[in-house]
Amino acid sequence: MTQYRYTLPEREIPKTWYNVIPDLPAPLPPPLHPGTGAPAGPEDLAPIFPMALIEQEVSSARNIAIPEPVLDVLRMWRPTPLYRALRLEQALGTPAKIFYKYEGVSPAGSHKPNTAVAQAYYNKAAGIKRLCTETGAGQWGSALSYACNVFGIECMVYMVKCSYYQKPHRRTIMQCWGANCIPSPSDKTAAGREMLAADPECPGSLGIAISEAVEDAASRQDTNYSLGSVLNHVLLHQTVIGQEAIDQLKLAGASPDIVIGCCGGGSNFGGLAFPFVPLKAAGKDIRLIAVEPAACPTMTKGLYAYDFGDKSGMTPLLKMETLGHDFIPPGIHAGGLRYHGMSPLVSLLHQEGVVKAVSYPQLQCFEAALTFARAEGLVVAPETSHAVCSAIDEALKAKEEGKERTILFNLSGHGFFDMAAYEKYFAGELTDYEYPEEKVHEALAHLPQVP
Ligand SMILES: *Cc1c(COP(=O)(O)O)cnc(C)c1O
Repeated sequence: MTQYRYTLPEREIPKTWYNVIPDLPAPLPPPLHPGTGAPAGPEDLAPIFPMALIEQEVSSARNIAIPEPVLDVLRMWRPTPLYRALRLEQALGTPAKIFYKYEGVSPAGSHKPNTAVAQAYYNKAAGIKRLCTETGAGQWGSALSYACNVFGIECMVYMVKCSYYQKPHRRTIMQCWGANCIPSPSDKTAAGREMLAADPECPGSLGIAISEAVEDAASRQDTNYSLGSVLNHVLLHQTVIGQEAIDQLKLAGASPDIVIGCCGGGSNFGGLAFPFVPLKAAGKDIRLIAVEPAACPTMTKGLYAYDFGDKSGMTPLLKMETLGHDFIPPGIHAGGLRYHGMSPLVSLLHQEGVVKAVSYPQLQCFEAALTFARAEGLVVAPETSHAVCSAIDEALKAKEEGKERTILFNLSGHGFFDMAAYEKYFAGELTDYEYPEEKVHEALAHLPQVP
């Protein structure tokens, strides 16, 4: 009998995070100060981040110990299960073995609490009383709300306005954990007021919401800012996923040829894929595939350049694959993978050919999600559907070529809060949108000049 589920006991949760920085094939370009263009030092980040996280951001240690109080919270749902998608394999008639790591078992229903818990812990330890953040689809806001509640910190969430009204239940779950969530742009910050003056109907974007949260955090002593993806320390915290998966695949007697994750800012992909980077460097033939939506083609159509992390140009400049900080994604797109930039670590690994990037249109992703739901039962988040789509694509290629490949993908979150997107799909109201080449050029024309 082949097993469906590979589980590890609580005590086998990884005790360290894996830092990919010492294993990069080229040095990581440093963040630059937004005003001077000089490399940003710890003192530039200290107004909004605790020193422990700033140190992790630039650490060259390969393994970093996870503090006991963080492990103690993560153990409430970790190690997460690894599933063999036997029924999907049968439905596709593929000789490929498909495995998925299920991050939907966390309290917020996605991988995001893995870093939210660590960030809330380090801020609490540094004496911070309040955390500010932005959220798009609401998953990061709910993860941080949950984590702040665990450690007794106040949480303030600026939620992209169109999502705030499209996804009222995400806002409510943040309230369940005691957080405050308001639509962005708001009149609470100068950045928000400026956007509202220019366009009172502005639907908001992640870039704008980040400007608001950073401004709020920078203007108060008791408040720090917290980011749910993109930065090195965030991807570091997510590497519990890949480390567990490696142990669980051993239990299954399997070793992946293909590792797949969807990519918004790169954290669930990096969390799953980075622990495989040393194996690949040692000569094992593994393809690491980062999947993005055709509507927000950061890796497949963007430029590798220094850019701001936010709309107003308040954050340090990061060398990353970007569509330009002016990029406002089409509102018709259901997925939360809408950020203009990409993690500098994922960007560099893509530039160096270690990571391969692909994009898919959203209708094909919803079709894949339904194929998956009807075979495996789980209804995935629209973001996750991109990883499912790529996994199915690879499984069908294996069938065509008659190859017995092993595919691993990250099921980054369930879709229980995303029924509105599925409803639109069934009503035929979702359309494909390929971000036009000329719009990409337009946004890229506004990249900041660096010395
Ligand atoms: C936020 C989110 C993503 C995208 O963010 P990454 O940082 O790229 O992982 C993907 N899947 C789910 C379920 C999410 O909540």
